[in-house]
This record gives sequence, structure tokens and C-alpha cells, in this order.
Amino acid sequence: MTAFWAEPDFDAHELVQLVHDRASGLTAIIAIHSTHCGPAAGGTRFWHYADPAAAMRDCLRLARGMSYKNAMAGLPLGGGKAVILADPERTKTQAMLAAFGDAIAALGGRYVTAEDVGMSEADMVAIAARTVHVSGLPVKGAGEAGGDPGPFTAQGIYLGIKAAVRHQLGKDSLAGVHVALQGTGSVGGGVARLLARDGARLTLADIDAGRAAALAAELGAAHVPSEAIMTTPCDVFSPNALGAILDEARIAALDCAIVAGGANNQLARPEHGALLAQRGILYAPDYVINAGGIISVGIEYLARREGRRADLAEVTRLIGQIPARLETIWQESAARGEPADVVADRMAQKLIGRG
Ligand code: NAD
Repeated sequence: MTAFWAEPDFDAHELVQLVHDRASGLTAIIAIHSTHCGPAAGGTRFWHYADPAAAMRDCLRLARGMSYKNAMAGLPLGGGKAVILADPERTKTQAMLAAFGDAIAALGGRYVTAEDVGMSEADMVAIAARTVHVSGLPVKGAGEAGGDPGPFTAQGIYLGIKAAVRHQLGKDSLAGVHVALQGTGSVGGGVARLLARDGARLTLADIDAGRAAALAAELGAAHVPSEAIMTTPCDVFSPNALGAILDEARIAALDCAIVAGGANNQLARPEHGALLAQRGILYAPDYVINAGGIISVGIEYLARREGRRADLAEVTRLIGQIPARLETIWQESAARGEPADVVADRMAQKLIGRG
């Protein structure tokens, strides 16, 4: 027990629950980091982890990230996250999703879930059959927010990249700006399409090489093997796959002026933000730039709870605040000589009453 509380990723989480349902084979972890600002909201990741300890670390870190993300986005929501330990291609069943919905229902609204890697809108519908504490459900009418958060996340990242290019390169246009983009799934694919529309030069990579190649063909972009993307010379490296990709060796090998992308927990360890700063690379703290999706699912959930429809214009307005928030962080970072992630963490901790 003592060892667990001493885990570096355990940050006084309010609740960590292990879920097992024998009948369906569900094995999951639900972590609530903080409900200081409201019900803990954060998606569920369906992933085949190498071992349960890795799943626990991921869940703890992601839950804390959601506390920071929701607070910084100005949402009246706390932070939590869930992981289901499995392989989405082979083992996701309706019975498993139902059992998972029951586990969320039992928390009585302290945790609200939505999509994350490996979970779809259809999965949220299955969970919604068992609990009201779920968001990211299909949109019913025009002008209504909701559904898959991916496109909203992509919109915020696109705006954040524009802000970073303005700040770091002094350019108001993305025309000809070279972005090396890792991960061409829901978020990365959306970001790539928005960047291409503005004339950015794109190099794409995905461990699913066919997916990157297909998107590259659609957008007239280049594509490289996934192991080559982080050393591709570019203006912006945009990580949109999994986390913990920025470690000592990889930061040393980066050939870019900006790191700005949607993946959660990009820094392998907290001190890696300082390494980016030492190299003069502008970093957009992940949980600030990738808040578009939770802004959408958060507004959707809060509206449904109040019996009104979620307003798309409100979601768009809140996502539009991401660039100014990043600019505030970068200015304070420059003024204090502190890495951008340290500045963002301090702001977030203050907002969740832990400053
Ligand atoms: P996704 O599953 O749709 O796409 C992820 C893509 O990354 C896949 O195409 C996968 O093949 C690829 N990939 C995985 N490992 C890779 C590697 N090592 N190199 C290159 N490509 C790799 O997931 P998504 O919803 O697009 O999420 C991407 C990231 O953004 C995740 O870190 C997620 O936590 C984060 N995020 C997503 C949202 C959202 O709204 N979906 C919101 C905030 C943050």
C-alpha cells in the first residue's frame, strides 16, 4: 500500500477504482483526480497495455491532466479518466460496455465519461443505456454541439498552431509553414486537413502507414515512416498519437521551432519541458491546446443536465479562447524564464485549489 501512495504519478487522486466484471470480462480503472471545479470529466481509453502497472500510470496521469485541462478551459468540471484494458479490435463487446456503464452509474455522477483512443460515439451510446453520466453522444439537430470530440479537438489545435507560428516565427499565415504531424487518426487527420486548407506544407506519419499514405494522397502531402517523423526538419512538430514521446534523446533529435499537438501527456517526465525550452523550442502545453474536445463534451453534458440543448456557437466561442490562453502562458514563460509547462501547471493548480 505504502508503495502505491508513493507512486510518482499518484497526485492525491480523490478516488482510484479497479473494475472487474467476470461475466463480460471487463477490466478497467477509473481515476478521479479532483472534483474541486465540478464532476470529474474525462474520456475512456480502450487500449491493450503491456501490463496493468502501465495502465494504472496512464490512468493516473491522464486523470490529473483532465483536472488541469478542464480548469484551464474555464469549465465547471473536475478531472478524471478511465481505461479499459483490452484490444479494441478483438475484445470490445456490448456486455463489456454495459458493465462499464454500470460502474460509472455507481459513482453517482462524480465521474462523467466520453470518447478517447479506442472508443467511438457508438460506444458512448451503449454506455448511455446504463448511465446518464456520459457525453459525446450523437448530435440531434443543426447548431447543436456534441458527438465525436475529435473534430473539436482538431479545431483547437489548429488555432493553437497558428498562435504558435505567430508567436515564434512572426508569421500571420500558415502558407508554406512546414508541419511534421505524428498520428493521422481522428485528431491528427482533422488537424492535417485544417492546416492543408491554409497552405501549410505537411509531412505525415502513422504506425498505420497506409492511413498516413492515404491522407497524404488526399492532401498532396508527404509521408514518412513513423520512426522518422520526430527527426524530420520542420517548423512545427505536431504530436497527435500517444503520450510520453518527448524524452531526453528524442528532444535532442528534434529539428523544429515549435511542438504543438493534441496527444495527451507528451512530456515523458515533467523535467522534459525545460529541455525543450533550453533548445529554444516553443512548447504548447498539451492540455491547453487539446481542450477543444472536452469543451464540446463538457458543454454537451452540462446542457443535457440542465435540460437544454448544447449550443454549438458557445463551444466554438470557448475553443476560440485557446490561442489567447497559450499566448498568456508563453508571455509569462518568457518573463519569468520558466518552461511553458511549468507556468501552465502553476495556473491550473491554482484553479483546482492546489496552488
Ligand atoms: P485515434 O486512435 O483516432 O488516432 C491515433 C492515431 O495515432 C492512429 O492512427 C494510430 O495508428 C496512430 N499512432 C499510434 N501510435 C503511433 C506512433 N508511435 N507513431 C505514429 N502514429 C501512431 O486517436 P485520437 O482520438 O486521434 O487521439 C490522438 C491523441 O490525442 C491521443 O493522445 C489522445 O489522448 C489525444 N486527445 C484526443 C482527443 C479527442 O478528442 N479524440 C482529445 C484530447 C486529446
